[in-house]
Amino acid sequence: MPNCFQLTRKGEKEPTSLSKIDEEICAAVGDPVHPTRYCRGWFDSIGWMIAVTGLDWTGVRKAFEPCVQAETYPFCAVHGKPWDDKSNDCYGHWIDYGAEEGKSIISVLDYLEANYTTSAWVEIGRRA
Ligand SMILES: [Zn+2]
Repeated sequence: MPNCFQLTRKGEKEPTSLSKIDEEICAAVGDPVHPTRYCRGWFDSIGWMIAVTGLDWTGVRKAFEPCVQAETYPFCAVHGKPWDDKSNDCYGHWIDYGAEEGKSIISVLDYLEANYTTSAWVEIGRRA
């Protein structure tokens, strides 16, 4: 299981800093840059998925797709994860947090996927 990630602009060799990427995202989706929070929570959702689960863009996009309860019950037909009857959702589904206010995180994903490649790796212990 990886626990670190970085994003590298397509065509470049060195990864881009996350704060620089955040500024680009804000410009792309039309949100102001926040001094302490990442745009639409992308670091804690998209970043987490890449870092901890090692998902690529296809996998991240799928995680945001709505669940489908079908003949696969008690597993979600979309994500293949166990169904949770309380939330009527599965454990592989990520909520599109900003969607309620018309600010979907999918537009962040669209920007990142169009411009960056992902990589994730495992790091154990602490740096000196
Ligand atoms: Zn699901």
